[in-house]
Parts: sequence; C-alpha cells; structure tokens
Amino acid sequence: AAKDRGKGGHVLYTTGMTTRMIAHAELGAQLREAIATDQLFLTYQPIVDLPNGQITGTEALVRWRHPVRGTVPPGEFIPAAEQTGLIVPLGRWVLRHACAQQAAWIREHGPAAPLSIGVNVAGRQLTDPSFISDVDAALGDAGLDPTWLTIEVTETAVIDDDTAITTMHQLRDRGIRLALDDFGTAASSLGLLLTCPVTTLKLDRTFVEHITTVTRHQAVATAVVRMAEALSLDTVAEGIETAEQANLLTDLGYDRGQGYHYAPPLTADRLEPTFAAVRVP
Ligand code: C2E
Ligand code: MG
Ligand code: MG
Ligand code: MG
Repeated sequence: AAKDRGKGGHVLYTTGMTTRMIAHAELGAQLREAIATDQLFLTYQPIVDLPNGQITGTEALVRWRHPVRGTVPPGEFIPAAEQTGLIVPLGRWVLRHACAQQAAWIREHGPAAPLSIGVNVAGRQLTDPSFISDVDAALGDAGLDPTWLTIEVTETAVIDDDTAITTMHQLRDRGIRLALDDFGTAASSLGLLLTCPVTTLKLDRTFVEHITTVTRHQAVATAVVRMAEALSLDTVAEGIETAEQANLLTDLGYDRGQGYHYAPPLTADRLEPTFAAVRVP
C-alpha cells in the first residue's frame, strides 16, 4: 500500500511538473514575442524626499501589455523570466528604456527632472557575462551619466555569490548607485553590507505596513535607519500608504519614501506634469 501511495504521489508530481513546464514554455515564447514587439512598457513610481514629499527620483517598474490578458504585473512573469533565462534580454530592454527616459527628462525638464532612476536587476542578470557591457551600452546610447542610475538588487540575488558582488563593484566604480531592495526580508547577512558596495537601503514595505501599530516593527525600522546612518548609507522606506506612516518614518530619520500615499507607479506622460509643480527654490 505504501508503495502504491508512493507511486501515486510520484505520478501526480510528474504530471504537475509537466503542466508547469508547458505553461512556462508557453509563457517563455510569449515573453520572447513581447520583448521583440514592444508589448512591454515601463511605469515610474516617484521616490520623494521626507518630510517635504518632493520628488527626487523614480523607480522603473515593468508591465506587460498582453494581447489577451491585458496589463500583466511583473509578479506574474518576472519569476518565469528568471527561470527561463529570458530575464537577461528582458532586463536589457528595461535598462535601455529606463536610461533613455531619464536622459530625455534631463534634456526636457532640466533641473526639474528627478535626480535618479532606479532599475531592478535580478541575480541572474548580475552574473551574466554580458551585463556590464549591456549597462555601458544602455548608458552610452542614451547619453546618460552613470551617476543618475541606481541599480536595485535584493539581498538574495547577491548573498554568497562572488560573481554578483564583483559585478556590483564594477557598477559602483562607474559611479552607478546601488540599492539593496526589500531590505530586511531575505535570509540576509549583515556581513553583506561590508562586502557589497551599496549606497542605499530600501526598507521593505512589510515593516512600514505595521509601523504605527506594532512596536516591534517600529523597533526594526529604527535599528535599520541607525545602522544606515552609521554606515553612511541613504535610506528609502517602501510602501508608504498613510500620512501617519510618513510622519513616523520622517521622525525616525528616513531620507526618502515611496508608496501609494505619494503616487502609484505612473506612465511617463502622467508623471511628467508633476515635475515642475513640486520644485521649490
Ligand atoms: P520592488 O522593486 O520592491 O517594487 C516595489 C513594488 O511595490 C511595486 O510593485 C510597486 O508597485 C509596489 N508598491 C509601491 N508602493 C506601494 C504601496 O504603497 N503599497 C503596496 N502594497 N505596494 C506598493 P510591482 O510594480 O508590481 O513590482 C513588483 C516587483 O517586481 C518589484 O518589487 C520588483 O522586484 C519586480 N520588478 C518590477 N520591475 C522589474 C524589472 O524591470 N526587472 C526585474 N528584475 N524585476 C522587476
Ligand atoms: Mg525595486
Ligand atoms: Mg522594493
Ligand atoms: Mg518590495
């Protein structure tokens, strides 16, 4: 009986795997098509100065305008893109478009343009042998100085990976800023802060969510900002949804913030009108 159950379990597992692999193969083919035919587009979420709420930067967040499914959020295709390796061409597309957009904003809006653009990069991209030359080409073709670009990586992407860490040093040597995204959620090692040349910590939104109501969450957020200060890193709090959260994070010493309280990710044409309006002398 035990043998039968084992066999049954094995069959079920295999069936599940096959279904998943077909789904992935289909998704992969569709994604390839999406990259080739410009079905992807970027939205930009403002990153603001705390406490005055003025836009100082943006984060580029990819979307897929799927011919049948409509607008698909990255959570539904980035994991598959990472597994199939398609994240490399997809990430190259994102980098090129984000750099070109930032360069256009500087040209068209001068001092009112946001001061940095954040681009999310997966571990698989960091270890790809062509990554550094892709970054150089994206910057070069856009005519964008590297100091306007922030590469966002998660702790999981770089932990225990010497190749990824070497790549981060090469990026930093160019003057590109490096943010540790979703900080505090991964099985992180604080030693990473010593080996990775990061410039920015992005406190994950799970800590922000309960910051005004759960003392322990506030304690973690406080410890992170104190540590960042001691290491001369700048800080961004993610997922700010209320004025109370913004005020508390400001009081704790967070430099910048991002979240629906300020603005959701927007298309470039919806974001641009806000540039001039928020500038003060
Ligand atoms: P992330 O880099 O941590 O980006 C922040 C996510 O939080 C975005 O979700 C954003 O829309 C969402 N968000 C912003 N403010 C709030 C808020 O106040 N409340 C809540 N609940 N959520 C908020 P999105 O755009 O769905 O992206 C999800 C993740 O997909 C990103 O997380 C990033 O890890 C990944 N991703 C997005 N674009 C790219 C890309 O071009 N390349 C790669 N490799 N990953 C990407
Ligand atoms: Mg990010
Ligand atoms: Mg994040
Ligand atoms: Mg996040």
